[in-house]
Amino acid sequence: MTKMRKAVPGPRQSEIAANLAAVRERIAAACRAAGRSPEEVTLIAVTKTYPASDVLHLASLGVADVGENRDTEAADKAAEVAQAGADVRWHFIGQLQRNKCRSVVRYAHMVHSVDRVSLVRELASQAGRVRTDPLDVLIQVSLDGDLHRGGALPTGADAADRDFRSVVRAVAEAGPLRLRGVMAVAPLDRPDRQAFAGLDWFTGVLRADHPDATVISAGMSDDLDEAVACGATHVRIGSALLGKRPRLL
Ligand SMILES: *Cc1c(COP(=O)(O)O)cnc(C)c1O
Repeated sequence: MTKMRKAVPGPRQSEIAANLAAVRERIAAACRAAGRSPEEVTLIAVTKTYPASDVLHLASLGVADVGENRDTEAADKAAEVAQAGADVRWHFIGQLQRNKCRSVVRYAHMVHSVDRVSLVRELASQAGRVRTDPLDVLIQVSLDGDLHRGGALPTGADAADRDFRSVVRAVAEAGPLRLRGVMAVAPLDRPDRQAFAGLDWFTGVLRADHPDATVISAGMSDDLDEAVACGATHVRIGSALLGKRPRLL
């Protein structure tokens, strides 16, 4: 691995700076409209498909949280960024397979995509092995019941492993994990306010037993305004900051 320097000012940094200013303004406007304070909303820059140098630009512009959805890419990028001396928190936001847990627990600050009891057990076991601090965990919830897109479900009749209450219990009982809240992706056909309305049921069930689990990770480039209106505390923004990705990822 070549040794990287700190972010170099130049056209790419200026482009990202302008995009960042626009995104921050959108968040501020959405907060004003919802009667919320912008300090309640953490911006996570989603850097998948973009190089470590972009993470360094973001860090030098004051972005402390970055998100990735594939383990191999994330692990390499986290190592490069650390070697360059930048300090950011890595959020793992993609669907997670059990065989990747061993790697993810080494660099992730928060895993947003925990949606199965079996995954909780493996993540806890791997985190307990290498971490001194607990790993922050969000339970990804399904707002449309589409099994292919991931997410825990309101009822476990056909999918006990993905029953929301069972996943909550498993995370709460796992010492190496810290239950922080929920994560959702808007259903494909409804990128509007109703899309996130379904979150209320999950947050209600969660907070009845875990009042401190207050994180709501929701909202991407196209729906951050709706997500903020529905109470998002963490928004995950990729293309609005870094540009359209060549493929839908
Ligand atoms: C890629 C991705 C994002 C960011 O999407 P944009 O539309 O580029 O802002 C957010 N959340 C998840 C889970 C993603 O995979």
